[in-house]
Amino acid sequence: MKVQRIGILLLVLCIIGVSVVSTALIRYEKRTRSRDIVNKGRYLVTLIALHSIKDFEGNKRSFFLRTLHDYISSEGLAYCLIHDHAGQPFVVLDPYKLVSKIPQAVRLKSLHTMGLTDQTFHTSNSDQTVYEFAKSMFENGQQTGTVRLGLRPPPISLFSMERVGLLATIAFFIFAMVPFVFLGIKVALRPLKNLGLKMENMAGTSTPVETSSAKGPAIEDVIASLDQSLGFLRERYKRLEAANIESHAKKGVIAYERKQIARILDAVHYGIIITDTQDHINHMNAHMLNLLSKERDDVIDRPLAEVLEHEEILSFASGQEGGAQKTTRRDMETTFPSHAPGETFQVTLSHLDDGDGSITGKVICVKNVTTQKSVDRAKHEFVAHVAHELRAPLTTIKSYNEMLMDGEIADLETQKEFYNTINEETDRLAGLIENLLNMSKIEMGSLTTERELVKTDRLVKDCVAAIEAPAQKKHITIEKKLPDKWPSLVGDKELLKVAMINILGNAVKYSPENTNITLSLREQDHTVKLDVLDQGYGISEEDLNHIFDQFYRSSDPRISEQTGSGLGLAMTSDIIQLHGGRIEVQSTPGDGTHFSISLPRKDYQLGK
Ligand code: ADP
Repeated sequence: MKVQRIGILLLVLCIIGVSVVSTALIRYEKRTRSRDIVNKGRYLVTLIALHSIKDFEGNKRSFFLRTLHDYISSEGLAYCLIHDHAGQPFVVLDPYKLVSKIPQAVRLKSLHTMGLTDQTFHTSNSDQTVYEFAKSMFENGQQTGTVRLGLRPPPISLFSMERVGLLATIAFFIFAMVPFVFLGIKVALRPLKNLGLKMENMAGTSTPVETSSAKGPAIEDVIASLDQSLGFLRERYKRLEAANIESHAKKGVIAYERKQIARILDAVHYGIIITDTQDHINHMNAHMLNLLSKERDDVIDRPLAEVLEHEEILSFASGQEGGAQKTTRRDMETTFPSHAPGETFQVTLSHLDDGDGSITGKVICVKNVTTQKSVDRAKHEFVAHVAHELRAPLTTIKSYNEMLMDGEIADLETQKEFYNTINEETDRLAGLIENLLNMSKIEMGSLTTERELVKTDRLVKDCVAAIEAPAQKKHITIEKKLPDKWPSLVGDKELLKVAMINILGNAVKYSPENTNITLSLREQDHTVKLDVLDQGYGISEEDLNHIFDQFYRSSDPRISEQTGSGLGLAMTSDIIQLHGGRIEVQSTPGDGTHFSISLPRKDYQLGK
């Protein structure tokens, strides 16, 4: 099969080669012959034209015609015409009867020539090529006639002896070269074949490939094998490219997630240190860096002990090593006196593992718990105060009540006094409970405060009415400086009333008899200003720093003998702040006190 194909291939090659060479040879021969005919024609026509026209008369005419006749048979002369000076044919030699087939234009051009003219034409019916040469004949400077010669190129035979010999030589060479060319191709393709086998092995193919055939693989087999190997390689490349793209994407996601985790760690409000198994720092978040006043580059990959320089935490962290403790989480409290004096920190240690139980590092969290601790302390103090404040009136009520019930007090006047005391202590208890309830309302107030239009005239009237009775009891005059046009407020009417009654009530409580209290209300720079001035005992400078603290009361006996819980001003301050306002106090002991409240005046809009 393969031999047949090679045979056909050779034959085709041979035919193509012979055709190409033959065509080239024929063209060359045609060109050469045409040149030869032109040379010969010009030579002959010139030779004849040199004769005198008289040479073609008498005996000479027959000699001349005979000579031309010989030429016609041996040299391809087609015809010979000699015209006299009038253009009439004088000698006509036309053995092939071609003269009648000469086109008119050719004839005329030849007759009217003075020099040498050559032209080619095709005879009208046989389509034969004829070369015509014409030249004028002269004698004594006069034109005596015209010679016209027609020459036919001899036919070119494809199978001339020389050509057949040449083509046979070419065919022989083609056949002789085939084995060499085949051998050359085989040798040239050997490295490619080896490459194909290698690539097949790389691609892990098990396709058997004929490698040790006695004849060796055919070119098509080699090419097929190479193509197959390239296919495998292309597949493998595609797989690798896909895997590469995937791993690139994964790398990007991991880098992004790492950054996100670092950002999240930076956003938390406590310090975080992450170490490896060698206690070298892997990560320290912004809060911790800030606490230690360090830069990230100065701590990463450095030993924890070198960076932290905190014996307590270091021994706490190293003390957690080993055994079951690795999975537990423990806390300790400590301070950083040089970095954050007066603040308390809670340190928590956790261990990181790789999921199989092997420890890969530690996480140390450092949280500032100063505020939390002081809040806890304040809560305990508050509960203790409340318990004390509740117990004192209850004890009085209980003991007075028992004495009255046991009939120990016979005197009616004393009984009345006891009943009054019980009543006063009950009021004190009720007031304390009322204050506590208001305080809890304020603490939740930012969420639940009822916002409504508060008319200041109504507010002032209610507050003054609440303190009028005790003021009258002490003969205290309340002087009012009120505006013609009352401003409005937006807020919680009940809470604002509690705040104002506290201020006015304190002014009455902590003032001696027969004094004045001035109450003024005005609108100033979009705020409602309320001032309460009394002529009371005043507040010492030291007390001024604490009067807004919960349960704080002055130690001045004139003040401490008055009933009170120390919650009024703390609550008032909270209420004013809740409404976006400010409370200020100025006082001179012995002269009196001036409380000033300013609240933002807001235009009330329904639905807001
Ligand atoms: P309470 O009046 O129940 O003691 P407050 O919180 O209202 O509690 O007041 C706290 C303290 O501030 C009072 O105990 C008193 O010492 C001082 N104080 C408040 N108002 C006045 C005032 N107008 N004149 C003098 N001292 C005052």
